[in-house]
Amino acid sequence: MDLGIKGKWALVGGASKGLGWGCARALALEGVNVLMVARGAEVLHAAVADLEKEVPAGVKLIGLAADITTPAGREAIFLAAGGPGRDFDIVVTNAGGPPPGDFRDWDREAWLKAIDANMLTPIELIKATVDGMAARGFGRIVNITSSAVKAPIDILGLSNGARSGLTGFVAGASRSKIAAQGVTINNLLPGKFDTDRLKTTLGTAAQKMGKSIEELRQQHQAAVPAGRFGNPQEFGAICAFLCSQQAAYMTGQNVLADGGAYPGSF
Ligand code: NAD
Repeated sequence: MDLGIKGKWALVGGASKGLGWGCARALALEGVNVLMVARGAEVLHAAVADLEKEVPAGVKLIGLAADITTPAGREAIFLAAGGPGRDFDIVVTNAGGPPPGDFRDWDREAWLKAIDANMLTPIELIKATVDGMAARGFGRIVNITSSAVKAPIDILGLSNGARSGLTGFVAGASRSKIAAQGVTINNLLPGKFDTDRLKTTLGTAAQKMGKSIEELRQQHQAAVPAGRFGNPQEFGAICAFLCSQQAAYMTGQNVLADGGAYPGSF
């Protein structure tokens, strides 16, 4: 299926690896030019160079090493995109998730950090790009959130809280005037995907439980109806569809990609 977005410009956060990389790749394979942002320059530039070998001729990929959760990082992104024009057609908001822990240990500072990264950063990116999209009559915003928004996980309280705030904001903003101006905003909720972040969380849990990572990995995979973890490529494909012309009538949705792990009917 031709998604009808060839030649558009996308901003993808956390794009050097994992889910952000999956989204950047899927968009680029559709002919979308992508500004790929991540904190570490070395991994990012290697990811851009690898992707360049795969994408159709003429697709532009730009790697920008910046912390998307800071005002200075976002300013650098918009400068790289041609200054105040801020003319992205597609924005995929994504950054690292907050650390797990016990809510009794989180002080105001920990909460502000989580809210900054996983709620206010996407909101700032939406604020900076949405009116330009509306003026041009096309825009797609996809926020990578988490299945924890639908089925909260106790040790991920910082993520549950901050991302739920974003979810509430998106529910309202997506249904504002921009809905009739060709702009959609949706959230894409990953369950368990085989990325570095998952490896780290599994590693920490395995150590605490005195189990091997492989043992825990098998256990977690068996708990998913699909019998396996997801991969960034299939996550990216869903993201690209949400950014397509065909998905124009889908907005304000929370789309779960979890191999059937969430047990409810809706
Ligand atoms: P990952 O660790 O594999 O990749 C994270 C990417 O984000 C890297 O490119 C990193 O450089 C970049 N990044 C991190 N902080 C950044 C910042 N401040 N500015 C710019 N770039 C930044 O992680 P992932 O598994 O792809 O997860 C992506 C998001 O999805 C995270 O917020 C995570 O909490 C969430 N999530 C992941 C899963 C999963 O199973 N992998 C499940 C639920 C939610």
